[in-house]
Amino acid sequence: MDVDVAIVGAGPFGLSSAAYLKNKGIGVRIFGDAMSFWRDHMPAGMYLRSNWAASHISDPGSKLTLDHFKADTGARFEQPIPLQQFVEYGQWYQRKALPDLQSSQVKNVEKNGSGFKVSLDDGSLLKARRVIVATGIAHFPWMPREFEGKPKTHVTHSSDHSDLSRFRGKEVVVVGSGQSALDAARILKSFEAEVEVIGRQKEIRWVGQNAWLHRLGPVSWCLYSNFDVGPAGLSRLVGFPNLFRLLPRRLQNPLSHRAIRPAGTGWQKPYLAAVPMTLDRLVTSVEIQGDKVRLKLSDFTERIVDHVIVATGYRADVSRYSFLDPSMARTLRTSGGNPVLARGLESSVPGLHFVGKPAAWSFGPLLNFISGTHFASAELLKAF
Ligand SMILES: Cc1cc2nc3c(=O)[nH]c(=O)nc-3n(C[C@H](O)[C@H](O)[C@H](O)COP(=O)(O)OP(=O)(O)OC[C@H]3O[C@@H](n4cnc5c(N)ncnc54)[C@H](O)[C@@H]3O)c2cc1C
Repeated sequence: MDVDVAIVGAGPFGLSSAAYLKNKGIGVRIFGDAMSFWRDHMPAGMYLRSNWAASHISDPGSKLTLDHFKADTGARFEQPIPLQQFVEYGQWYQRKALPDLQSSQVKNVEKNGSGFKVSLDDGSLLKARRVIVATGIAHFPWMPREFEGKPKTHVTHSSDHSDLSRFRGKEVVVVGSGQSALDAARILKSFEAEVEVIGRQKEIRWVGQNAWLHRLGPVSWCLYSNFDVGPAGLSRLVGFPNLFRLLPRRLQNPLSHRAIRPAGTGWQKPYLAAVPMTLDRLVTSVEIQGDKVRLKLSDFTERIVDHVIVATGYRADVSRYSFLDPSMARTLRTSGGNPVLARGLESSVPGLHFVGKPAAWSFGPLLNFISGTHFASAELLKAF
């Protein structure tokens, strides 16, 4: 074998996993363009939804926190954390902990005896005893059927944008009512776009409306974990993924949904006061008409606009990982597109592990978020 572990992907989960394994003396190689999803698929002008305590990328000595980044670089920012600073934090973490990261893309992973053969886009090959898939959500953008297959000149997913200034002065509909939709609407408004939000929820939910519940000392401690995922009470349960996973599936699904249902951060409210929000509606048809898009809504009204940004989130489906060799993908046990994982975040293919969103079906909603890196990295070590 060339190496004990190959890690595919260099976002928060890949970086943290690599740092923990390396710290244990395990031979690890990590591949990917560090923090590229945050840099290229989120809009400039965005702020993180997670709070300060929940936005550190876990490292084994707790020496690579946001606070250490600020002290080391002189960067000046507070909560809410600006996207640009978070990208720079992740890149700083990589340089400090993993200076030998290889920015190549992984093209193929296939079983090779008791290990794996990993092919890179530069044509090189590597044999690894284990592989950790840490490729995030970039492979999983999801949009309702009505929008599928429309030209990107007219209809895009929110992940298609890192710079919304191209819509300056344009008429844009944003579909969705969660954080991505509200972020996009706020940023578009700052570019003097005529923007309307259309969502199927009955109302916008705002995070942070019960701030007083966080100021009750020990009572707050009982209600909320530092991981900042989920409402009072559920937040604590979500903070113990090994407990969450023991719950019957009929409880896990609604609790997961409740913990991460669409919502916007409360501080954005005043910035969106002038944005029309058409809620409790579905878009029933999408037609391209020259350089415009015509939308029909479930209330029988119509909109004709320059562009539609669909901010309806992501759905994990490992069959969309083109780098998983079909021979191996066939033997991977999945449920609804998610790999079924056991102790050590290991899949039914021995030695193949998943972290981040694809692990959330097995270990609960914490695995969707940066704060899930503390659990994931520690859990991975159990496999060694
Ligand atoms: C708009 C938006 C806002 C968000 N805000 C927050 C927030 O405030 N707080 C929070 O906790 N979470 C937030 N999230 C969720 C966030 O995506 C995850 O917390 C985090 O990105 C998960 O990290 P990751 O390492 O799993 O994935 P990513 O950060 O997506 O990293 C995956 C990496 O894998 C690389 N990669 C992919 N394929 C290959 C390949 N074949 N070979 C090599 N490398 C590859 C990519 O280039 C990328 O660098 C947000 C998500 C979105 C969409």
